[in-house]
Amino acid sequence: MHSLDAIKKAICDLANEQGFQQARVSDVHTGKYFEEFERWVNDGMHGSMSYLERNMDLRQFPEKLQPETCRVISFRYDYLPEKASFGKILSAPELANISRYALGRDYHKLIRKKLQLIARSVEELVDDLSFRVFVDSAPVLETSFAEKSGIGWKGKHTLTINQEAGSWFFLGEIFINLPLSTDSPVENKCGQCNACINLCPTAAIVAPYKIDARRCISYLTIENKDSIPLEFREAMGNRIYGCDDCQLACPWNRFASISQESDFQPRYNLDSESLLNLFNWTEEEFNQRLLGSPIRRIGFDCWQRNIAIALGNAPNNDLIAKTLQDKLENSSPMVAEHIQWALGQQQKSHTANTTTISNKTQKLIRTINKMLPRDA
Ligand code: SF4
Ligand code: SF4
Repeated sequence: MHSLDAIKKAICDLANEQGFQQARVSDVHTGKYFEEFERWVNDGMHGSMSYLERNMDLRQFPEKLQPETCRVISFRYDYLPEKASFGKILSAPELANISRYALGRDYHKLIRKKLQLIARSVEELVDDLSFRVFVDSAPVLETSFAEKSGIGWKGKHTLTINQEAGSWFFLGEIFINLPLSTDSPVENKCGQCNACINLCPTAAIVAPYKIDARRCISYLTIENKDSIPLEFREAMGNRIYGCDDCQLACPWNRFASISQESDFQPRYNLDSESLLNLFNWTEEEFNQRLLGSPIRRIGFDCWQRNIAIALGNAPNNDLIAKTLQDKLENSSPMVAEHIQWALGQQQKSHTANTTTISNKTQKLIRTINKMLPRDA
């Protein structure tokens, strides 16, 4: 028979062996965190993510999701690949800017497998263990549990920040029926900083700790399956899948750890590929090359839609205009509408000879180059 403290230590050791950087415990009470989430949904800020409206009671009461749960163990797994070259991609509007978490293989399977291994090992130490693992897969308030357990604090951009590691990490959870001792939250160290709010390209952080998903490039390029509203297209720049800008602006990411995990290293040159090359992928190439990548889930149409916008924002170039024109005929009505827009933008920048990098992005590049000289 093992004491609860010995089991908790064993879980932390197992987490370490599996490559997690932290494992911390909280109780299951969601109180103010759930109320805040519910208000956000009621205000419609979740856009078309209607799955967030469902299963509210499971989200509020973890013990309804997994009976007997009395503790949530939150795990941190860093993902930042080496040579992330943030400044370089933002400064090159002809290259594709893809959110760092999506450059390699999908993290869900890898992390779920690691959490399952940990839970199975704990099963050998304890009789009647009841557990369930989660990786961004069910109605779980994961950043709230990360905050409660002290993995980090909730930044004004709403992501979890760890003082020693920044915010480039995935979270996973094990719900468990063991009354392990809980860990304490850490102090919020955003202070007077508002860098993420000021540098967000689409002003999506509408108040500290509140994102309007309908304005956020991550939502617009990944979750949204329809036409992208005109008002955000120029601000999207070359961001074709997600957006990292609020994390890039954050001074705590000076301390970000680099991940050695081979699954998270960029594939198919996705960290520095030209927009035109990606736009020329056929549907078959898209499906085959992005097998095992989170990007594949948005589907070929949304992929082309996003790249079309970025090509509209790219410096004027005859080859871009010709490629857009050539694709027009065989594209779906949604993609065709974005291509038409891009052709109009190309024409506009040809006439005006304007720069294609927004002032906010230029400011962000200067911030990055100052903060992360290794990236410059
Ligand atoms: S991901 Fe980009 S668009 Fe969304 S809040 Fe952060 S900076 Fe703004
Ligand atoms: S950029 Fe500043 S305000 Fe935003 S999360 Fe980081 S520390 Fe907090």
